[in-house]
Amino acid sequence: MPKKNVLSYWEKASLRHFDLIVVGSGVVGLFTALFYSKRYPGHRVAILEKGLFPEGASTKNAGFACFGSISELENDLKNLGSLQAASLVMERYNGLQLLRQELGDKAIEYEEVGGYEVCFSSPDQQRIDFFNTLLEPFLGERPYSIVSKNRFGFTSKVKCMIKNKLEGTIHTGKMIAALQEKVSKAGVVSFTQSEVLKVKNYAQGKKVLVKTLSGSIELIAAQVALCTNAFSKNFLPEENVKPGRGIILLSKPNKAFNWKGSFHYHEGFNYFRTINNRLLIGGGRHLDQEEENTLENGINKKIEASLMSDLRTLFGSEANIKIDQSWSGIMAFGETKKPIIKRINPHLVAGIRLGGMGIAIGAGVGKTLAELLEV
Ligand SMILES: Cc1cc2nc3c(=O)[nH]c(=O)nc-3n(C[C@H](O)[C@H](O)[C@H](O)COP(=O)(O)OP(=O)(O)OC[C@H]3O[C@@H](n4cnc5c(N)ncnc54)[C@H](O)[C@@H]3O)c2cc1C
Repeated sequence: MPKKNVLSYWEKASLRHFDLIVVGSGVVGLFTALFYSKRYPGHRVAILEKGLFPEGASTKNAGFACFGSISELENDLKNLGSLQAASLVMERYNGLQLLRQELGDKAIEYEEVGGYEVCFSSPDQQRIDFFNTLLEPFLGERPYSIVSKNRFGFTSKVKCMIKNKLEGTIHTGKMIAALQEKVSKAGVVSFTQSEVLKVKNYAQGKKVLVKTLSGSIELIAAQVALCTNAFSKNFLPEENVKPGRGIILLSKPNKAFNWKGSFHYHEGFNYFRTINNRLLIGGGRHLDQEEENTLENGINKKIEASLMSDLRTLFGSEANIKIDQSWSGIMAFGETKKPIIKRINPHLVAGIRLGGMGIAIGAGVGKTLAELLEV
């Protein structure tokens, strides 16, 4: 237990009470604080984050603004049925609209460059027609089409691509920076390097025990929102939340990567895109699920080797792609793809388990959670 930080009379009187404490400053925590502050201007809201930057997935991801490739939809159709699969697409699509509306395309560098599923064998046109027909009533468009023109430098192993014209990319760092700025302008106070150890009951709300570098402090809140995604087990042991690590490799700048687009393969488990003439590739968690079921960051050598081999399949050995940087982030998964958004008790709500879709659904989850936080 860290040593206790003794508070002054002034701190006790004016600084440690909040109407809402949000735990976790990922995309969900930030949007929850933002939407709550819009609903209740003048309320005191604090965000507590254990890292200096958010330490889960929100600043580690690939920046795909995507709502479903055909092979991903095939899986959703099998597991959820057509209505639920279409409703998940719409949740992601509407979430992306909300993200863009709240922050602006310029601030997050949103570019509708198209999403492409890479096909190593000929795709089934009938299935593409089926999904276009399924989604047309919701989207008002038939998003999918086969593209055979290879302007991306792929080897002949790539037969063609299925394009989703409504998908795009964002700049993840700029998105979080824009969101942090908006949250700060709304009057929310953000504390970093402040790990919440415990949330305890208290007559008028919750006492929140926070570990800081100079000792532990107890804050007081009328309501607490847990936006801790993969790191929720200590607070909510009964919820089905499994961590899943994702890794990303980033190449050195290379003139060959002067195209734009967001690409998927292996049923959406793997992906790549470009950023400033660099190639970003990631995924492959399914190759070593047991090892990747972890809260620890790190690079799995087996998956790294597999991604490097994929690069040779996609672009040929002669492309000689040099990796400059690699990193990992931690996501949260469960028995369904649906996030958990619920009231846990009269003073506690949770918005967690966003899987690999947090850019698409994060704003919407934050909005719904803020609506649950009725005063
Ligand atoms: C490699 C990778 C690539 C991805 N690519 C994409 C993509 O292209 N498109 C897409 O839509 N999604 C993608 N995702 C998923 C997406 O990033 C996540 O779904 C999303 O960021 C989840 O946001 P969150 O706010 O729920 O969780 P997080 O971002 O994990 O935020 C939770 C925060 O809570 C903090 N926290 C936890 N416990 C405590 C505590 N006790 N006290 C204080 N703070 C605490 C953590 O430090 C963390 O900052 C990717 C994820 C990874 C890892």
